[in-house]
Amino acid sequence: MTILVTGGLGYIGSHTVVELLKNNFEVVIVDDLSNSEKFILENIEEVSGKKPIFYPFDLRRKELIHQLFDAHHIEGCINFAAYKAVGESQEKPLDYYENNLFILINILQEFKNRNISNFIFSSSCTVYGQADEMPIHETTPLKMPESVYGKTKQMGEEIILDFAKAYHKKISLLRYFNPIGAHPSGKLGELPLGIPNNLVPFVTQTAAGIRKELSIFGNDYPTLDGTAVRDYIYVVDLAKAHVAALQKLIASTEDTVLDIYNLGTGNGSSVLEVVQAFEKANQVAVPYKICDRRVGDITIAYANATKAEKELGWKADTTLEIALKTTWQWQKYLESRN
Ligand code: UDP
Repeated sequence: MTILVTGGLGYIGSHTVVELLKNNFEVVIVDDLSNSEKFILENIEEVSGKKPIFYPFDLRRKELIHQLFDAHHIEGCINFAAYKAVGESQEKPLDYYENNLFILINILQEFKNRNISNFIFSSSCTVYGQADEMPIHETTPLKMPESVYGKTKQMGEEIILDFAKAYHKKISLLRYFNPIGAHPSGKLGELPLGIPNNLVPFVTQTAAGIRKELSIFGNDYPTLDGTAVRDYIYVVDLAKAHVAALQKLIASTEDTVLDIYNLGTGNGSSVLEVVQAFEKANQVAVPYKICDRRVGDITIAYANATKAEKELGWKADTTLEIALKTTWQWQKYLESRN
């Protein structure tokens, strides 16, 4: 079965492509390389021993998508292609709405016109905003996200749900908590692009001496040690969830499926716990200072991920320390390439 993976050279996309290939799916990747590099494709081949088909184009270009669907018998799609920088999304809202939503609609149009089902959307726990209950269930009410990026995810979900209901399609919305780590081979991971916004890339670069010190944004939160709590999920576990979600859609004999899953570990870790786990796992120091809270940050977010476990037979079971070890291996690999 041939699966289109948009953004398949990105962080979560590349790990998911490896898992799809392992499970004997044929993979067609479209990625415009706006946030990735060609060597990731070579590394996917090296890690998986298989060669996915690759097209480097911008998915806003409808005519190219049309040709792609003419050329390949695509039977499903995992849609990762999107801009994802929260801060940038506030500065360039139109770029974010245009890119993230047009890409989505262009692919859904092909699915509609060609009678294809099995669509998986890369969503985010940001759709819950500052949730009123913890842990966060799939039924926890959605709130308006703080960022334009988050809004593109929430709007994307709405578009897909309407699409699935009107045209009788099988879809799965996967709401990620905080993905971290890299492939155990050390050959795939998150590519650094400027100063990292996210915690783990910043911790890693600080340990490597690229950044002087980590700024911990607030230690006066009502948590165990005063720093904010998140649910950090290992990227390979996350990638495996996509395959499980896809297999469920394919196996379903219903003509309409509307699946929504939280993908997290179910455990919260504080910023200080992440720093300490990184230091312990890699025997390296992470200098830090305590700063003011970051505007827009929430105190605590962690998943109730039991629905995914029950329905997909999937569970994120890699420990924080192991995940952080792979991050460090990836950092060393990147340094060896320079
Ligand atoms: N964080 C931090 N210093 C940084 C980056 C992040 O203290 O340089 C904190 C941030 O305030 C939050 C947690 O780490 O509490 C996770 O932040 P991240 O940006 O990785 O994810 P998100 O805020 O989207 O959950």
